[in-house]
Amino acid sequence: MTKNKIEFKIWTIYFATIFFSVYVHEFGHCIPAWIHGYWAVPTPAKEYISNAVSMDMKQNISLGGIIGSILVLLIVVFLYLINKTYRFNSAILAGAIVTPGMYTFRFLLIGRGHDATEFQEAQSALGFRYSGHSLDWIFLILFVSGIVIWIIKSKPNYKIIGKLSIGFVLTLIFVIGLQVINNAIFDPIFLAK
Ligand SMILES: [Zn+2]
Repeated sequence: MTKNKIEFKIWTIYFATIFFSVYVHEFGHCIPAWIHGYWAVPTPAKEYISNAVSMDMKQNISLGGIIGSILVLLIVVFLYLINKTYRFNSAILAGAIVTPGMYTFRFLLIGRGHDATEFQEAQSALGFRYSGHSLDWIFLILFVSGIVIWIIKSKPNYKIIGKLSIGFVLTLIFVIGLQVINNAIFDPIFLAK
């Protein structure tokens, strides 16, 4: 492969991993609803769930997405650690830490990793304090651990900083764009229901 082709493949795999991990999060939200017979549809960046669910169910639905996010990350980190040959594993690891990274950013900037009350409800479902920050801290620790594992295993040099900065900006655009497009397409279909 030429250098450009490799570069292109790295970015494609990176963004595909973000897309996949966000979808697993939304899918995770829907599982408790489906188990209890409620209507629920996971779309790439948002879950649509029947309004008929109880408060208790809402907590489990919130938790389902959080478990999805954590599972994706743990599986990717595990594969990253045991793999020795796959040349794109850093791109996959980078894609998988984007969700915890976004939560951490929001936590540090505005004090809460997730919008609305998703973290609070998931914390209640886990037996943590509703208004506490346990999930904010868990995602911060996961995010930092992912970075530390990457640094130890890949031993990047300073030259990567330029690429990381571009990656950061593109990631913001990608994640925000994904949500805007997703909601523009699916809100009219599913919120009317
Ligand atoms: Zn969610």
